[in-house]
Amino acid sequence: MQREQLTRILDELMQPETMTDYCPNGLQVEGRSQITKIVSGVTASQAFVNAAIAAKADAVLVHHGYFWKGENAAITGMKKQRIAALLAADINVYAYHLPLDVHPTLGNNAQLAELMNWQVDGALAEVSPHGVVMHGRLAEPVTGEVLAEQLGEQLQRPVTCAVHHTHRPVQTLAWCTGGGQGFIDNAAAAGIDCFITGEVSEQTIHSAREQGIDFIAAGHHATERYGVQALGNYLAAEHGLVHEFIEIDNPA
Ligand SMILES: [Zn+2]
Repeated sequence: MQREQLTRILDELMQPETMTDYCPNGLQVEGRSQITKIVSGVTASQAFVNAAIAAKADAVLVHHGYFWKGENAAITGMKKQRIAALLAADINVYAYHLPLDVHPTLGNNAQLAELMNWQVDGALAEVSPHGVVMHGRLAEPVTGEVLAEQLGEQLQRPVTCAVHHTHRPVQTLAWCTGGGQGFIDNAAAAGIDCFITGEVSEQTIHSAREQGIDFIAAGHHATERYGVQALGNYLAAEHGLVHEFIEIDNPA
């Protein structure tokens, strides 16, 4: 497939123009014009770039790419090393951040719900109509402790942190993959039983304790492995590209 065609397919699917984000979404680094193999991963770190080169990728597809708002725009140091390796190998970099969190079927939030078999009721509208935070319910209510165990099993790593209030069954959930801990107050205001995200901050614990909402931090990386894989699998199934997901473990 030609690069222009892949760029068009991805942009039509992800619709980056519909939301404000902290980075450019779409083709971030241009490589060769003909694309047969894509390698997906959570973050375009040096280890991931090296693995993609070894896997003979024509393009990489990531959730965390480059050129974040607020960072030094100069291409120096760590960023220079990564981009130099990509340019030398002539590999395209496609990055989708918020559009890949919120996509209704392929997105990180939707894919986490599918992995966990949670019933999705929709976007938590108080935060954003796009589904930056989703809410829904457990098919079978369980205690917060059991829910944390289930997350640990499915994500193949124990959850980072959990606050449970009582032994009442959790019925309603809200979740935001990655660094969504700031949204716990919105979930509490909406009367949700348990809020799940990737990361935790010191103040998150007080929010959970004082507002009577259960909280689980299940890992930023661990909760964001699934959108990019779903998108890569979609490109393989619908457009005949070869797709490989490369996991670079990250305990955060
Ligand atoms: Zn993230």
